[in-house]
Amino acid sequence: MVTGLVTCVLALVLLPALVRAAAHGGKKHKRPAARLRTNLPVGWVWPPSTQMKQDGQRCLRDLDRLEVHWKAGKATRKVVTPVVVEDMTFGGVRLVPRWGKGPYVMDCLLARALARHVGPALGNMKVVEIRFGQIYKYRQVAGKKGVLSRHSLGLAMDVYAFVTEDGEAHVVQDDYLDGDEVLLEVERRVTDTGAFRTLLTPGNDPEHHDDHFHFEARAAGDKVVSAPTRAEPAPPPPADDGAEKMLEAPAQP
Ligand SMILES: [Zn+2]
Repeated sequence: MVTGLVTCVLALVLLPALVRAAAHGGKKHKRPAARLRTNLPVGWVWPPSTQMKQDGQRCLRDLDRLEVHWKAGKATRKVVTPVVVEDMTFGGVRLVPRWGKGPYVMDCLLARALARHVGPALGNMKVVEIRFGQIYKYRQVAGKKGVLSRHSLGLAMDVYAFVTEDGEAHVVQDDYLDGDEVLLEVERRVTDTGAFRTLLTPGNDPEHHDDHFHFEARAAGDKVVSAPTRAEPAPPPPADDGAEKMLEAPAQP
């Protein structure tokens, strides 16, 4: 009788654990880190693969060739190849923080895209200074819970203004929607380099980018967008095409 009771109690205590074990094939079940993988560049894994590390080393050699004064950044969560560029000068154009001071850790891929493409393209149009806000920050995409921002990978940078050599600041928030030619030209040129994913601006993402441009260095597997995505004046709506409209959901940034 007593033995029967003990067995019964034991079974009750153990049952939930047995059911859990059976459901997971008897193995210890660990939740997959799906949230953290979301929005990683195509072909990227975490921890970084050998290929990713080798790409990082190649990138560092490119920084030397591009005469970027870099040093290795300290190990940083989710940044494959962290670097710090103390003079914040990339291809002749200086990055100046809106507030605070460095060091600003970034992935080598962003440093290389800035030095190889942004510096020369903007230098040619007499932009001498880029006023930036956030670069590395481990966070989710604004307004998209569970999607890891590319700021978390050290690949993204937010820019609030571009200063031309005459000293004039072209401020995204104040001047972009007024059709400031420098800002529109910056958008075209950066897009044309193909080195970045879609530049987010007040034109194509007024809700979350009304006051800055979001630059995001393209990793090898990311798709290139070859044309500016600034919103053009909306065409007149075609008659009665409700069904089609539903199929044409805009691409996710
Ligand atoms: Zn951003």
